[in-house]
Amino acid sequence: LYEAYPAQLRRNINVGGKVPLGVKKKNLRIVVTGGAGFVGSHLVDRLIERGDSVIVVDNFFTGRKENLVHHFGNPRFELIRHDVVEPILLEVDQIYHLACPASPVHYKFNPTNVVGTLNMLGLAKRVGARFLLTSTSEVYGDPLQHPQVETYWGNVNPIGVRSCYDEGKRTAETLTMDYHRGLGIEVRIARIFNTYGPRMCIDDGRVVSNFVAQALRKEPLTVYGDGKQTRSFQYVSDLVEGLMRLMEGDHVGPFNLGNPGEFTMLELAQVVQETIDPNAKIEFRPNTEDDPHKRKPDITKAKELLFWEPTVSLRKGLPLMVSDFRQRIFGDQKTGGG
Ligand code: NAD
Ligand code: UDP
Ligand code: UDP
Repeated sequence: LYEAYPAQLRRNINVGGKVPLGVKKKNLRIVVTGGAGFVGSHLVDRLIERGDSVIVVDNFFTGRKENLVHHFGNPRFELIRHDVVEPILLEVDQIYHLACPASPVHYKFNPTNVVGTLNMLGLAKRVGARFLLTSTSEVYGDPLQHPQVETYWGNVNPIGVRSCYDEGKRTAETLTMDYHRGLGIEVRIARIFNTYGPRMCIDDGRVVSNFVAQALRKEPLTVYGDGKQTRSFQYVSDLVEGLMRLMEGDHVGPFNLGNPGEFTMLELAQVVQETIDPNAKIEFRPNTEDDPHKRKPDITKAKELLFWEPTVSLRKGLPLMVSDFRQRIFGDQKTGGG
């Protein structure tokens, strides 16, 4: 394992000899792009807890300082307001590249996936850092294979309303593999399936945040289409564990990181009703264009090579998110929040 790390990383491991497998590496300098966002801020918590120095690069497009405020004042933490579409010079050992407008209402017309990824790969090349890309299950498009295995090439509309995101991430994967094969950069690729948890954007239009906020506000749950389309929902702490194992492990990927528990949107609405308000109404709305009919990860590869699998079921994870949303929606009003 020790030999597998670039010289620059070995210097920072801070021991004279080889690092036995399983020993936690400490004192790494790590940049997390998009670290002020939902997933990024949870990852930063774990890295700081492990003893690393973390630089967050974020333009606050959807991220919030509040997600990181508990690290302000820590000398091992730094927050830089910067758009990754512009070049940046940093000296680091690892790059977790999460920056991306990640929800349908935000991701249209944005070059972050391509230009931002290119810049971070350029940075990895210059300083010899290991680079991890957070790709997405959307690379499988509206999949014709179910569940989705990493070897499946996907079914994506290249000119559709979602293609800026789907094709943007597919291009990001291509760039990542080109820098790896052509220039010897150490890379890792995660294909993340739908993830939820505390600190999710409240109004970004994703289904779990919509349903939870709607139920708390006593509004009807908006089910798009017939509600029979499926998704698999992963709790954020499971994802962060998977990302760190991937970064520290010896395998490039891509790896599916998701919870194989599959739910229709109507079933999800039912779990939200059970968790928050059994009287919550359901309202059907027209579905969005190119909506994938089903999605469920095959995680055999991550199980076998990263020794990773999710541990938090939807019924266990949802209440943890609900208390955070309740506090954020009603917290300031001092009304008790229902
Ligand atoms: P998020 O919107 O909460 O976080 C994204 C962060 O990136 C935000 O803090 C935002 O301000 C920042 N950002 C966006 N454009 C930027 C730019 N040009 N320069 C600098 N910062 C920028 O979303 P998230 O759910 O935390 O997603 C994190 C990553 O995981 C994304 O790459 C996303 O594509 C991927 N992913 C997430 C999910 C999910 O269900 N949450 C699923 C698949 C993939
Ligand atoms: N880059 C960056 N920070 C660095 C090194 C590179 O932002 O520390 C950017 C650089 O500006 C370029 C991109 O990453 O736009 C790709 O860099 P690379 O060196 O691979 O390509 P080149 O500049 O040779 O085209
Ligand atoms: N969806 C829904 N009601 C909402 C928001 C979304 O029924 O208020 C549906 C949407 O049509 C899709 C699924 O939920 O079929 C997941 O949508 P999301 O945007 O959360 O994730 P993605 O489509 O990117 O997997």
